Amino acid sequence: MPQPKVIDGHMTEILRDDDAGIGAAARLLRAGALVAFGTETVYGLGADATQAAAVAGIFAAKGRPHFNPLICHYESADAAFEDVAADERARLVAAALWPGPLTLVLPRRPDCRIALLTGAGLNTQAVRVPAHATARALFRAVGRPVAGPSANPSGQVSPTTAAHVLAGLGGRIAAVLDSGPCAVGVESTVLDLSQRDAVLLRPGGATVEAIEALIGPVIRGAAPGVALRGPGMLASHYAPSLPVRLNACDVTAQEGLLAFGPPLAGAGAVFQLSARGDTTEAAARLFEGLRALDRPGLTGIAAMPIPLAGLGLAIADRLSRAAAPRPV
Ligand code: AMP
Ligand code: MG
Repeated sequence: MPQPKVIDGHMTEILRDDDAGIGAAARLLRAGALVAFGTETVYGLGADATQAAAVAGIFAAKGRPHFNPLICHYESADAAFEDVAADERARLVAAALWPGPLTLVLPRRPDCRIALLTGAGLNTQAVRVPAHATARALFRAVGRPVAGPSANPSGQVSPTTAAHVLAGLGGRIAAVLDSGPCAVGVESTVLDLSQRDAVLLRPGGATVEAIEALIGPVIRGAAPGVALRGPGMLASHYAPSLPVRLNACDVTAQEGLLAFGPPLAGAGAVFQLSARGDTTEAAARLFEGLRALDRPGLTGIAAMPIPLAGLGLAIADRLSRAAAPRPV
């Protein structure tokens, strides 16, 4: 049994794999706190995916210098397909391979409940139904999509026990639901079904042969002529269509202002990321802000300076990609 770990007076609670523990974990998640949970693959760091502030907490806890799109976890395919649009292929693989170590990337539905930050601002969202009984009981009790990257600090190996989670994130998250060691220890297979060609973005616990037996050929990695959609690849990142100007200290009436703290005067439109100058709040609002200002009538987006501390680093990374010259 792992021991609780305390950092700066914050203690990470260890919850037991029983009704009381699952109930407590679900209440914490619904309240916007971070709770790690075991699956059949690795321990995930969970947050209510409908609360952007909770999702920003995941990036802060992991110390990620950039935003990458997160997987949302559900108790059933029916629940998942309320948030993303499933075509015939998605229904086939879900029926055969869920619950299990397979993640599907699908288009967000117009009524999708998931915060834009969860999917790093993309129009697609990765979803999965894990096979682990405790995890599914947790998602059922939460009743909302649970965002969950692996529960380790950025750059470290994925955890397969509650003790690993505590060693990396103890004192930085509210609780870990201890369901024992993970069975597979390999991450889920990530399959992109958001476009006509099925593309394998990451090999993992579900084999590509099993998938191809159901839906036919799957493109492995980046074949010539196929748009790169994998992790960390440029095309997988949302960028507004208007040019973005960084570290603006003035603004014109033709520009939309992405404000941080007291806004500059004279903008054509203003979206406030954080009036009190808080980088975590700004991260939670970043993709909504970019979308809100990316509109006809404006000629560009001017972003006010944001300190390179906390999630400011990840915000700067995203804004500088948005400001970079676009491939045509
Ligand atoms: P992890 O949560 O650490 O297991 O990593 C999730 C994986 O899924 C990463 O490789 C992400 O880049 C990938 N992923 C999640 N959402 C998307 C998406 N919408 N499009 C493409 N890849 C995604
Ligand atoms: Mg990981």
